[in-house]
Amino acid sequence: MRHSADVIVVGGGVIGLTTAFFLGKAGASVILCEQGKTGMEASWAGAGIIPPSDLEHAQYPLDRLRALSVSLFPDLSRELLARTGIDNGFMRSGGLELINNSAHADSEEWYGLGVQIDTISAADARTLEPALSAGLGRAIHIPCMAQVRNPRHLQALRAACLDLGNVVIHQDAAVLDISVVSSRAKGVRLSDEELTGSAVLVTAGAWTGRLLEPLGQRLNVPPVRGQIALLNPGKRLFQHILLSGSRYLVPRQDGLVLIGSTEEQVGYDKATTAAGIGALLELGLTLVPALAGATLEKTWAGLRPGSPDGVPFIGPVPGIENLYVGAGHFRAGIQLSPGTAQLLTEMLLGKPLTMPMDAFRIDRQARG
Ligand SMILES: Cc1cc2nc3c(=O)[nH]c(=O)nc-3n(C[C@H](O)[C@H](O)[C@H](O)COP(=O)(O)OP(=O)(O)OC[C@H]3O[C@@H](n4cnc5c(N)ncnc54)[C@H](O)[C@@H]3O)c2cc1C
Repeated sequence: MRHSADVIVVGGGVIGLTTAFFLGKAGASVILCEQGKTGMEASWAGAGIIPPSDLEHAQYPLDRLRALSVSLFPDLSRELLARTGIDNGFMRSGGLELINNSAHADSEEWYGLGVQIDTISAADARTLEPALSAGLGRAIHIPCMAQVRNPRHLQALRAACLDLGNVVIHQDAAVLDISVVSSRAKGVRLSDEELTGSAVLVTAGAWTGRLLEPLGQRLNVPPVRGQIALLNPGKRLFQHILLSGSRYLVPRQDGLVLIGSTEEQVGYDKATTAAGIGALLELGLTLVPALAGATLEKTWAGLRPGSPDGVPFIGPVPGIENLYVGAGHFRAGIQLSPGTAQLLTEMLLGKPLTMPMDAFRIDRQARG
């Protein structure tokens, strides 16, 4: 077992694994510690929707980070396939945002991002997707909306990290605390050993606040439960991702359909509930009546790492040298992961940043 590295990464979700991969490719040695198995928490549970955003037009920092990420996803997916033989299922399946009479504001939001969209009539939406219910209103057609299959993406990231040779992954290796000496992060403590690193990066999802608290850092990254139902209709009923408010139906290429998701503040409880799954199934059948005959394959829930303003925390921890955080990506951790990994890699290796990162600072609330 290796005991020291340039960077110790704490947490093997999509943020930790992608950053470990980018760091490793940039020549840094990395030890990633995961308390369970890599990629089995929020990152596994998510639906993998990747909405488009355009780097030239996006004005807000979060939209710019999304645009950067979206621009990196196709090449990253190709590279993962080439290195590991694992196809993460990245594809531009397109999206249909189902709206009634509130089309104006929603479409303006998409236009503001420089994203190509069309507002179409209910009849045109049904021409695109004949399985849609007859009773629905107009829709926004978003041809560039993409998706990825999370479990495959995470397996590919893990295999690609190991393929590099300079990234070591320890599973069943819970970090108990971060060692800080003279206001400088020195490494981490596991139950049976200490690891040292020139820098420590905490990407522990909804558990990040717990790790930083003993260091006097109050980072509010609460767990926000999201439930999902997986249906198998036996054949492909529709092609586009269907969005309805904050809920959605995601069709996979093999015909499976994910319906998500709830948003619940219930601590670290990953149970699914009758009310949560019931509401998702009701939405599914309302939008696509033919799903009534589908088999309910599986239900699950994951704990999204929240943040008070919906913006992730990405950057150095104030007052502690060489300690960094990448957490709080809430409903967007998959779509934001390549950009987050690129920027964290730049920060950790002291390179110029692709974009300004003030909006993601850990102490942004304190600074107003
Ligand atoms: C139902 C649902 C649907 C979603 N849909 C989408 C979507 O369509 N598109 C999208 O972009 N995002 C989506 N998300 C959000 C996305 O999944 C998350 O934002 C993202 O997975 C967060 O990644 P993470 O690496 O920060 O956290 P996690 O995946 O939770 O990873 C953190 C890891 O750190 C480990 N860890 C914690 N403490 C320690 C410790 N002390 N020592 C070692 N390891 C530790 C944990 O075990 C875990 O593996 C969805 C989430 C859910 C739950």
